[in-house]
Amino acid sequence: MKIVRFKKDNNIYYGRLEDDRINKVEGDIFNNYKITSEYMNKNSVSLLPPVSPSNIIGIGLNYKRHALESNKSFPEKPIIFLKATTSILGHKKNIKLPNVAPNWVDFEGELAIIIGKEAKNIKVKNVKDYVLGYTCANDVSARDCQFELDNQWARAKSFDTFCPIGPWIETELNNPDNSNITTKLNGEIMQDSNTSNLIFNTKKLVSYCSRNFTLKPGTIILTGTPDGVGFARDPQVFLKKDDKIEIEIEGIGRLVNKVIN
Ligand code: MG
Repeated sequence: MKIVRFKKDNNIYYGRLEDDRINKVEGDIFNNYKITSEYMNKNSVSLLPPVSPSNIIGIGLNYKRHALESNKSFPEKPIIFLKATTSILGHKKNIKLPNVAPNWVDFEGELAIIIGKEAKNIKVKNVKDYVLGYTCANDVSARDCQFELDNQWARAKSFDTFCPIGPWIETELNNPDNSNITTKLNGEIMQDSNTSNLIFNTKKLVSYCSRNFTLKPGTIILTGTPDGVGFARDPQVFLKKDDKIEIEIEGIGRLVNKVIN
């Protein structure tokens, strides 16, 4: 099913989306919940990011062709970084170019894993019991901060609005390790790959992360981006005011955001 999170009359709810109809969910989406008969039209509510993250874990250089375009060797184990939870942004909301670093802002289309149950030291074969579902994400990155101004990536990855996710969580994605993923900038394809190209697949990533720290329900794991990002293109492409950026993943849907300054 598709899980949405939305605001209505100043309250925040989860819901189940079917076509254009949202049925309100009662209870805790990570524990016991009930899908009620109360429903509304999708267009009558404002969709929020489908989860308020307890943590956002990023994985670097997890597609070979992206490692190659970045002039980096293939990692022997997952490269983990953290992204501030305050960077979260919903579907159709605006990515804001930060005043202090507006010029080299780049896109990274990614499959995001949403953890559903507290996970610590989980075996690969048990990972599916701990995953609530999957969504589309954009690991927006200020490349000047990432590569030139700072010694590490925290700021580059964490400006407000730098983690668009959504539109919803798909709990029944057939094969998260074999889904097409594309990124379009103003309608033009920038990234076109498949999650079967992940160096460390989704199950290995959850297991590996869980061996290093506790994954609380609501943790987002960004699985890495394919080749075609802006800084590696010739000529380079960076996000600018009024751009429209779309991340589409087979079996999930399409996340759309515009850029403002
Ligand atoms: Mg990334």
